[in-house]
Order: sequence, then C-alpha cells, then structure tokens
Amino acid sequence: MKYNVRGFKRTLFLVISMALIAAAGSVLYWQQIIQRLEQDAAATLQADGKEITSTVNHIFASQLQVISSIALSLEYPEDLDDTDWIASYLGQQKRRNHVEWMGFQNVKGEALFSNGFSMHDFLSSKAVAIAYDKGAYLSEPQSNPFTDEKVIVMAAPVYFHKERLGIVFGLQTMSIYTEALANGSLGDNGVSMILDSQGNVLVSYPHATTENIFTVAENSRFDKNFSIQSIKEDMKQGRSGANSYTFKGQHRFSTYFPLDYNNWYVMLVLPTSSVANKAQSMAVISLVLCLSVVLAIVLVAIFILRMQYKNAKEVYKLGFIDPLTKTDNLNAFRMKFPEAAEAFKKKDIPVALVLMNINRFKAVNDIYGFEQGDLVLKQVATILQNSLETGELFCRSGADVFLLMLACPDQVELGQRIDQLVNRAGGYCQAQGEDLPLSITCGIYEVEDDVPFYIMMDRANLAWASAKEQPGTNYAFYNSEYLRKIVTERRIESSMEQALADEEFKLYLQPKCDFKTGRTLSAEALVRWLHPSQGIISPAWFIPVFEKNGFILKLDWFIYQEVLRLMKHLLDTQSPIVPIGVNFSRLHLEDKGFLDKLVKMADEIGVPHKLLEIELTESIVLGDIERVKTVIDGLHANDFSVAMDDFGAGYSSLNVLKNLDFDCVKLDKEFLAKGEGNPRQRQIISGLVSMVKDLGSHVVAEGVETKEQAEFLSSLGCDMAQGYFFSHPMPVPEFEKRLQDEKNS
Ligand code: C2E
Ligand code: CA
Ligand code: CA
Repeated sequence: MKYNVRGFKRTLFLVISMALIAAAGSVLYWQQIIQRLEQDAAATLQADGKEITSTVNHIFASQLQVISSIALSLEYPEDLDDTDWIASYLGQQKRRNHVEWMGFQNVKGEALFSNGFSMHDFLSSKAVAIAYDKGAYLSEPQSNPFTDEKVIVMAAPVYFHKERLGIVFGLQTMSIYTEALANGSLGDNGVSMILDSQGNVLVSYPHATTENIFTVAENSRFDKNFSIQSIKEDMKQGRSGANSYTFKGQHRFSTYFPLDYNNWYVMLVLPTSSVANKAQSMAVISLVLCLSVVLAIVLVAIFILRMQYKNAKEVYKLGFIDPLTKTDNLNAFRMKFPEAAEAFKKKDIPVALVLMNINRFKAVNDIYGFEQGDLVLKQVATILQNSLETGELFCRSGADVFLLMLACPDQVELGQRIDQLVNRAGGYCQAQGEDLPLSITCGIYEVEDDVPFYIMMDRANLAWASAKEQPGTNYAFYNSEYLRKIVTERRIESSMEQALADEEFKLYLQPKCDFKTGRTLSAEALVRWLHPSQGIISPAWFIPVFEKNGFILKLDWFIYQEVLRLMKHLLDTQSPIVPIGVNFSRLHLEDKGFLDKLVKMADEIGVPHKLLEIELTESIVLGDIERVKTVIDGLHANDFSVAMDDFGAGYSSLNVLKNLDFDCVKLDKEFLAKGEGNPRQRQIISGLVSMVKDLGSHVVAEGVETKEQAEFLSSLGCDMAQGYFFSHPMPVPEFEKRLQDEKNS
C-alpha cells in the first residue's frame, strides 16, 4: 500500500535539513560569540588599563603633593634642630595625611622618624640627589626598616632661601597600590601590575609576580605586527600599546600604559581562555537552546508525519476499501487492473472482466432487513474473493454488484467456472440462520487491448443486461451483436416521437380467413415503421422497446385512429367492410380512462363498436385479474368484442380463460411452429381448441403457413385462420382491393 511516501520523505528531508542548519548555526554562533567576546575583552582591558593608570598616577601625584607641602612647611632652620618638635610635627602630619610613616633626613644624613627613631642614611645618596634634582622622589618598593613590610618611599627636599636643609619623606604600604590595580572590571581573570622600565614587576594583582616581563615576552609567540622589540621600543618612548601573544601554550591579551613617574608602566594581562570559557558556556547554552528547538521541531515533525501517515491510511481506506466487506472497492480495482491484466498478458493468458449482480437483492433487504442484507453481501464477497487464483482481482463496486478480473483461457472453461461460482456464492448464503438461495447474473467481457476501463465496464454491463434477457442463464459474454441491438433500441427511442409526427408508422392489415373459402372474415391491424433510411422495420423490433418506455400507448391510439378512419372511409364509400382487431398493450389496462377513450374516439369518427375487436395479449393475466375483468365487461357493455391474443404462449391457465369472457381466443402461432405433424402436439392443440370452444369462444389460429396446417386446424373446428398461407399483412389500399375483389367474385 502506498500511503503518500513522497510526502513522508519530503518531511524527513526537511527535518534533517533543519537540524543541520541549526547545528551549523550553533557553530557559527559560537565562533561569533568568541570573536565578539575577544573584541569586548580587548576593549575592556584597554579601558581598564587607562583607568588604573590614571588612578595610580593620581595616587602618586597626591602623595607626592602631600610630602611636598610638608617640606614647604618646614622651611625654618631653627625648627629643624629641635628633634622632639620634628617628630611630633611629622607625627601630626602623618595622621592628618594618612601616610604610614614620616621622617626627615638632614644634610648630614641623619634620618629622624615620626615615631622618634633615628637612622643614618635611610635615603640613599642617589635618592637624595633625585629629590633635590627633580623636586620629588619615588622609590621602588622596599622594606620598611621597622616592620619589614614592603613600602614605597616618597620624598621632597626642604630649602631655606635655596639652601638645602634636608629631605622630608613618607613611607606608603603597598596595599593602596594593589587596591588600585584591583579596580579593573576583569576581576580575578587577568593580572594587572606596575612595571619599571626594565620590565621588573613592582606591584601586581591578584598575586605577586616576580617574573620579568621582558623575559616572559622573549619566551612568547606574538600575534602578527607585535614583537618584544616593539614593546621595548614603546616603553622606551613612553608609548602605550596592546598586543596578544601565546605564552606556555596560553593565549593572552595585554595592554600597557606609561605612568607619569620613574618611566614606570601599568600593564594588564588577560588570558583568552577566560574569554573562551565564557564563550563556551554561552555557546553551550545556545547549543542547548538550539538543540531543544531542533528537538521540538523533530518531535513536532514526527507528530505531523505520524498524523500524515494515519491520515493517508484513512484516506486510502476511504478511497480504496469498501467499508462493508473490507475488500477492495471500485477505485482500488480500477487502479490495480492494468498491472494485473498486463501480468496475465505476459503469460499469454487472456483475462475477462466479470460483473456479478445479485438478482432481486432488494427483496432480501425487504424480507430480512438491511442488517441481514449486509451479512449476505459479506458472505458473497468472501466466497468470491476466496475463489480467486493468483493475480486475479475482486471488488465490490457498489450495492449488490461485484467485479472480478479472471483468467479466461476460453469461454467454455470460464463459463463453467462462473456457473460453479454463482452456485456456490448463491447456495452458501445464510440470513437469519436459514439458507438463502440467491441467483446471480453475470456479464462477462473478454478484455481486449487498448479499451479504456469505463468502456470495459459498459461492456460487462451490456453482457449482464443481455444475460438478464435470457432467463435461466447465469451469464452472458459481451458481443457486439447485443451492443448493436442496444444501439438500435436507443436509436429507435430517440427517433420514435419524430417518426410518429412524420407519419412513418403505417397501418397494415392481415386478413383472418375462412378455412374453406379463404375469404376475409375479419382482419388484424398491425403496425409497420416505414423508416426513410432503414426501410420497413418489423414491430418485433420496436414494440418491445416501446413496451419498455411506454411509447406503445401513443402508438396504439394512433393505429386505432387509423383503423377508425379506414372504416369510416369504407362505410362512407359503401365499400365492403369486415371487423378489424386492434392490438392494445397491457399497459392500457392501468389507464382508468381506457374504455371511455375507445368509445369516444369511435363515436367521434362514427364507427359502430361492433366492427371493432380489442386484442389483449395473454400476458394480461399477470396483472390484476379483477381489473381485467372490469375492462372486458366494460368493452362488452359497449359492444366491442374482445380477443385473447397469443393464447398458449406461456402464461395462460384455463382457469383464467374460464373467468374472463373472451369472444375470441387466438391460438399462438408457436403451437404450429412446434410442428403440427407431431402427434403429441396435435393432441395438445386439439384439446385446447375443444376446451376453448366449450367455453363458448371463437378460435382463431395464428401463423397458418401450410395447407396441411389449415386442414388440420379446420378439422378441429377452428373458426378462422390468420397466416401467410392465406394472406400476409398488407397496406391499406391492397386490403381494400382484396375486399373489393372478394365481393366481386
Ligand atoms: P401478434 O399480435 O401476434 O400479430 C401477429 C403476428 O404474426 C404479426 O407479426 C404477423 O405478421 C405475424 N404472422 C401472421 N401470419 C403469420 C404466419 O403465417 N407465420 C408467421 N411466422 N407469422 C405470421 P408482426 O406484424 O411482426 O407483429 C408482431 C407483434 O407485434 C404482434 O403480434 C403484436 O403483438 C405486436 N404488434 C403489431 N402491431 C401492434 C400494434 O399496433 N399495437 C400493439 N400493441 N402491438 C402490435
Ligand atoms: Ca394480435
Ligand atoms: Ca398473436
């Protein structure tokens, strides 16, 4: 079964594509994030560097400023001899200006500290020289002589009228600088430090480093456009810079800014791994997000696919499975037919399309109810389907009609198989527990090449219709003869109205004659269709068609009118005249105004009723007998005589004949056709004639073709003979002439 596999594949392809796109998107997104984070980190590093540099500069400047102001305040030589006073004054200043330690070193090199201690040459001669030279001195970190803490020493010279009196100095613990270095936004991810011009690390955060930056740089691999040389050059020139490099397999960004003092630098270093870590965690989040989205999409897609599959199955069921019997329906049959037929053709085995229709199935429904009716259909379907040989097909095409495609090696063999099938399917059925014999009629079309399926169906249908017309047979094969018959019927039907209007229907008359003399005692009106292109069409062809479609009613009245006109003419011209029998189809009996119309038309034209005989066929006995009786009584009451036509053709029972009062009974011509030479047949005819005569009716023998027949029938006491031996049916002028001739002879 093909449930729209293409749609399924397409959706699967879509899902896989979407997953791939999402995955590729995640990777791209990751890369983008890393790049952006790196750019951000570099920019942040740069901004942090600038800020830290400015803070450190500010700290240095303000501290030097403090020391310088204290130096200025000491410009009175007499105070400087009083060591107690200096110690207390510096102690005051220390507290006021938040300097850890303060002291004064005089020109002799004696250093006096705010805590009262003194020391020789606390400031080196180099430091003293710088202080006098530059107006201020800033030391590298060094040990506090009293606590061993690292401190930075800041110093400023004291003058009295340009005379050097000594140097004031302050000691500042390192914590204040590490605090400044910790101010960046990078937190603990990177390292910030203050360097001297030789690349030595003076202060660093978050951990103390003793490495020389230039040594580190010498062991690093720089990204393009950077080198240790360009950094050294920058630092010599007091330029800031930024670079990225790899050290011990770790990639880092760094940036450096010159400080305003001692050619020192602030440098910040950030390992890219910290950025990558951040990026990774973001990428993981985004990846998880993407994957959840993809997963959601996949789940939705799977759901949709399942629905689609289910729907396709449902649609297939609706479109291709018969809901009652759960077998193929006509659509499925039609779809499978070409391939199945082709497979047989390859093996050189002809196939046939067989249409099976249960006869009078409506009665089963009416008698047993629809539920039992359905049950019967299922049983028939099962039997038929189980009878299939490999490669053959079966379906219920609707209601009580089944279609089969069967191998058809030859007509006889297939016919036998169909008979068996019909007997089995019809015989095995049960409804409400009782065996239910069903009859089935089949139409068989032997499949020819290049015939469209719907035409094959039509032909199987035509074959079925022809089988229906042959009571007692289970099946008929399609033949073009039958098709021609049907086509002719259609043609007859389509042209009958116009033919009536164009007076293509003509009245013919066949004499009913005296056995001895052959003289015309009466006549029968028979219709002929003088077709402009097809010549004379026999009523045997078109009467059954008109009986089916009801047109016979119109035609009978037309012939009746023609008969009345002829009689009126004969009467008016005082020509010889005989009673004429007119055929009326049994359909007229259903018309309540039948009798009135007969009377009215005859009276209008002016023909005495007794000259008219109404021929009703024997098959009227199939109808409502009471009604027939009423009509016949009515006819008698109005002086019409009534004949029973085709007596003995199959339907009659003598009982009926007894109950109905016919003036005349016409023995069906089939009696003679079966051979009046046959002694048994002679006996039957003789019995019938005497019985009819006993009931008081006249007997007309139809179809008398030979002298022998005439003599035999005459000997039985038949009253009249109608047949070719005496006369063929003839057109009106000929009939008139015959009457005239008889009169004259
Ligand atoms: P039917 O009423 O039994 O008419 C007698 C048929 O037997 C006529 O056939 C007639 O030509 C034919 N026939 C006469 N003598 C012989 C003979 O010796 N041998 C043989 N083999 N046949 C003979 P036709 O004219 O072909 O009519 C056929 C049937 O058509 C009639 O059978 C009648 O049933 C019906 N029919 C004809 N005209 C009308 C009509 O105007 N109205 C109605 N309702 N039926 C008509
Ligand atoms: Ca007749
Ligand atoms: Ca007849």
